[in-house]
Amino acid sequence: MKAVLDHVGIAVKDLAAALAFYRDALGLEIEAPEEVASQRVRAHFLPVGDAKLELLEATAPDSPIAKYTEKRGPGLHHITLRVDDIDAALAQLKARGTRLIDDQPRQGAEHSLVAFIHPASAHGVLVELKQSANRQSAASTVPLAVSRYAVGDLELISLSDGLIRLDGGAMFGTVPKVLWEKKAPADARNRIAMAMRPLLVRGARTMLIDAGVGDKDAAKFHDIFGIDRTRSLSVTMAEAGVAPEDVDIVLASHLHFDHAGGFTYRDAGGRIRPTFPRAQYIVRRGEWEDATHPHARNRASYLADNYAPLADAGVLQLVDDDATIMPGVKVRRTGGHCMHHQMVLIESKGRTAAFVADLIPTTAHLPDAWIMGFDLYPMDTLAVKQQFLKQAIEQDTLVFFEHDPALAAGYIREQNGTRFVQPAS
Ligand SMILES: [Zn+2]
Ligand SMILES: [Zn+2]
Repeated sequence: MKAVLDHVGIAVKDLAAALAFYRDALGLEIEAPEEVASQRVRAHFLPVGDAKLELLEATAPDSPIAKYTEKRGPGLHHITLRVDDIDAALAQLKARGTRLIDDQPRQGAEHSLVAFIHPASAHGVLVELKQSANRQSAASTVPLAVSRYAVGDLELISLSDGLIRLDGGAMFGTVPKVLWEKKAPADARNRIAMAMRPLLVRGARTMLIDAGVGDKDAAKFHDIFGIDRTRSLSVTMAEAGVAPEDVDIVLASHLHFDHAGGFTYRDAGGRIRPTFPRAQYIVRRGEWEDATHPHARNRASYLADNYAPLADAGVLQLVDDDATIMPGVKVRRTGGHCMHHQMVLIESKGRTAAFVADLIPTTAHLPDAWIMGFDLYPMDTLAVKQQFLKQAIEQDTLVFFEHDPALAAGYIREQNGTRFVQPAS
């Protein structure tokens, strides 16, 4: 067993006061907090070299952290050692007669697996073992899994068209790499992995929002963008029990190739056809005009094969304004990313959801200044993002992150000026 120090856990009673010391006085950076629902605890990590400090805040009176600070006051709570294989580590410790609090690993912060060793066996220290999320066995987490959500009378099904890799610098605009690479590690070509997650909405009609990158493009294109379509739209739609013929409406957030590529496919005879044979395809008129008249700055994002055949097939429907597309589903122009980029707002029986597309492509893009370099009008992105997030927090909106590699959807929370996402269960 090779164990390395992962973090030191500190129980706090007054988070603001603790931050005044650990963040402000020591000058440490703080990451977005993470809820560990099973422990009724909120964890705030501050990186220190290769390890982190973890400030632990109780979220309920019956939280173990609340009991700890009540009894002993705030202070050092545990140390965490990271191991490659937590099952093997626990088996070894058991064989040596070590007293364990957890016989079996359980879910910890940051999608990890954890287990505690009793202080009686660790000379008075509470020791946590941890196995990071990316080391978990394939069986425990299906990447880009199909997930279902109920919003009033509507059923929302998050699908996948696999992964695409885009330049990390371009994805985070003016944010320095030393900051963004902690959230999204870059590969040897400076690319970060992003998901493509179309959303299916089932209500009065069956609607698909965006359709990923599709499979019309050549090997060179797939190499440049590191495309991995193991979890393609056809695979995940089949898992969800939805056939291409079931789709009544295909709605475009915008026509960039990572959103509209799956709108069409190349048949055996080499002809490009609509992928969803019964569907009307709904596109905002301004976006259609921009996509069919590209300029030097946006030309690489618009591939005519993805949308021109829709007009030829007579299945294209252009909408001029913010409109209701089907009961409970309306579009709202955001601009920013491109002039006519739109998000999709969903409402049923007082519950709300939003598919924000490239307005907030991943959960890493929640802070105000984390805006894509790709955006044509970044100041518009900033204004709309601030306004949207404020409303999403107030209305407890379920927000879908189309490009997030780890999380399909969650609820936005804000604490001490830091926004974070509480994953939807
Ligand atoms: Zn885009
Ligand atoms: Zn995109």
